[in-house]
Amino acid sequence: MSQYDVVICGGGVIGGSVAYALSRNKDLKIALVDYKNPGNASRASAGGLWAMGESTGLGCGVILFKTLSKQLQEGADVSQAEGMKPHIMPKPFFDLAMMSNAMYPALNQELLEKHGVDMKFEKTGLKFVLFDQYDRIYAEHIASAVPDRQQHIRWLDRDTLLSEEPNISRDAIGAMEFDTDHQINPYRLNDAYVEAARQNGVDLYLNTKVTGIERQGNRVTAVQTSRGKLSCGMIVNAGGSWAEQISLWATGMQMPVFPVKGQVLVSEKLPKILNGCITTSDCYIAQKDNGEILIGSTTEERGYDTSTDLTLLKQLAQGAMKSIPQLRDMNIKRCWAGLRPGSPDELPILGPMPGIEGYMNACGHFRTGMLTSAITGKLLNELVRGEPTSVDITPFLYDRFLNESGDMVGEYHLEASL
Ligand SMILES: Cc1cc2nc3c(=O)[nH]c(=O)nc-3n(C[C@H](O)[C@H](O)[C@H](O)COP(=O)(O)OP(=O)(O)OC[C@H]3O[C@@H](n4cnc5c(N)ncnc54)[C@H](O)[C@@H]3O)c2cc1C
Repeated sequence: MSQYDVVICGGGVIGGSVAYALSRNKDLKIALVDYKNPGNASRASAGGLWAMGESTGLGCGVILFKTLSKQLQEGADVSQAEGMKPHIMPKPFFDLAMMSNAMYPALNQELLEKHGVDMKFEKTGLKFVLFDQYDRIYAEHIASAVPDRQQHIRWLDRDTLLSEEPNISRDAIGAMEFDTDHQINPYRLNDAYVEAARQNGVDLYLNTKVTGIERQGNRVTAVQTSRGKLSCGMIVNAGGSWAEQISLWATGMQMPVFPVKGQVLVSEKLPKILNGCITTSDCYIAQKDNGEILIGSTTEERGYDTSTDLTLLKQLAQGAMKSIPQLRDMNIKRCWAGLRPGSPDELPILGPMPGIEGYMNACGHFRTGMLTSAITGKLLNELVRGEPTSVDITPFLYDRFLNESGDMVGEYHLEASL
């Protein structure tokens, strides 16, 4: 039986980042165990580092479009319509997202120089392209909801937008840009963390299932896997949408993490037609480092279903063609659905569980796990070592879901397991 200080359960971008951060000092014996369940999120992601965009609800264009058009059909006053209220995340999330975002330039350099791995970090900005008065009102609502972040917002009139992004439709009337928001390649970020961790001495158990977790009293002592037992002092639950099973094995406690499906289309490789990432009220569009155009995404609660749906994919493609007419001639290379690890309040779940020793959460990153992986690694490294954390993690603790008697409050959605 192998003996480890820390066993990380799950090797997506979160488990990878934690493994890398913990292994930097090379003073701990660490194992990373991962089996790629269909729908694992890190391979499905768009790779946006959209700290301002995600904190103001601009990662979910399709939802906005649907909600708003339904309300307008019902005769709502546009400036008061519910669909026109931006989905502003609470301050602790906003701060966490911005702090994580700011880590990427240095992290990128470190991974490149020390480990020869390239996440393809690109400074792109994120433009919310406006097509009509509804888009403009919505953008203005966002800007006025974040008075202390004005320095990151740039307004572009139509001519400026078209000079910076000449392939955008002439029907556009302008844009609001977040100059903080950039992108990476999601596959490469995940692989970069895992490879750098391996170079630092982390043992990788890939294509390996965690099948159970052992405890003596209230202390976690070992992880059972399809390749044998790994004895350990601590486990980190980085199981993505499957985190609840790991929690049940380790702690006997429910974990309010549930899969939220997102469908994406990717084009064949194209010459550069976009200089930055864009989002609209129909979809978001990002040209990746290899030339592919990525168009996302739906947000659906359908359990662990990872099928794709032509009607929704067509809706995304039509939204993209409206924004960039020349995409009418593109070929679609692939489409897929991935499972975001949702949490009831859309905040990640980080840190210990009440009454359990040798266990840490790093799950529930929903639609921003790429963006927040950097800070999650840093925080988990501090937590595992018992050091003060760089951010107050109280808003992210599991305890927020418990009432005074220790029972889970509210409801959450969970339909199936592995
Ligand atoms: C369509 C889509 C677009 C997205 N776009 C963005 C974006 O632009 N920007 C952004 O920041 N985020 C984005 N996200 C969200 C982001 O991808 C996720 O938040 C992030 O990948 C979560 O990482 P994770 O490591 O927690 O989960 P995962 O990547 O799912 O990794 C968890 C891993 O643990 C494994 N596992 C679980 N249980 C076991 C077990 N018992 N034994 C072994 N292995 C196990 C799983 O199979 C999986 O490999 C997007 C997600 C989707 C689906």
